[in-house]
Amino acid sequence: MTGNGDRTLGTSPDFEAARHEMVARQIRGRGIRSQTVLEAMEIVPRHLFVPSEHTAMAYADEPLPIGVGQTISQPFMVAAMAEALSLEGHERVLEVGAGSGYQAAVLARLAIEVVAIEAQSVLAKGARERLARLGYANVQIEQGDGSLGWPSAAPYDAILVTAAAPRVPQPLLEQLVDGGRLVIPVGPSHGQELLRIVKHDGQTTRQSLHACRFVPLLGRHGWRPNSRDAKQE
Ligand code: SAH
Repeated sequence: MTGNGDRTLGTSPDFEAARHEMVARQIRGRGIRSQTVLEAMEIVPRHLFVPSEHTAMAYADEPLPIGVGQTISQPFMVAAMAEALSLEGHERVLEVGAGSGYQAAVLARLAIEVVAIEAQSVLAKGARERLARLGYANVQIEQGDGSLGWPSAAPYDAILVTAAAPRVPQPLLEQLVDGGRLVIPVGPSHGQELLRIVKHDGQTTRQSLHACRFVPLLGRHGWRPNSRDAKQE
């Protein structure tokens, strides 16, 4: 992959080639068809969103630690969730669980505006600085409990939750436009299903997309901090 057989891309960086291969094998190769999603995954420099000790693994087929017990999602999951939002470019999007800011950067290439909420202030600050440095001017990172949505900028055309919820938070449904899409992993800590929910005339339809495993969504409409499902094994 790096041309010299060195697995540690950190010491022999050829990040563009690694990213290209990631898209070919993990994303296109596993059925992601949206051209705009594929392009976004080709462009966003994932290696700049992971802590330096994990740079070498940035394009590997797995989630990676980003500090304070949290993780950046596996590349395929980032692409699958983005595709499930069916973005055409004109949308306003809410992300709950900004983490490193990577998913928000991908969404920022697919929509007009992204508001991303992160509960952990150290991550929110890091994501805000990183996105500003990389020139993502259409992303706003806020620190707070995203299980409540972010009412001051509502409604949203699409909402993505990147942490596992015990059930679908009602405020998120309320903050969707008619025709809006909510993509969210729902279920206990050992495994969830990724749901795609569409709101029409106040009613919702649900589709289950994938089995998945995310860190827990905490907060008012998430898990209680001391519950078993709020803990990561
Ligand atoms: N999308 C991120 C990774 C998400 S990991 C990325 O691209 O890097 C899930 C994140 O959700 C964690 O950072 C965690 O702190 C955050 N989180 C958990 N509960 C939350 C809540 N109620 N509101 C906002 N963020 C929350």
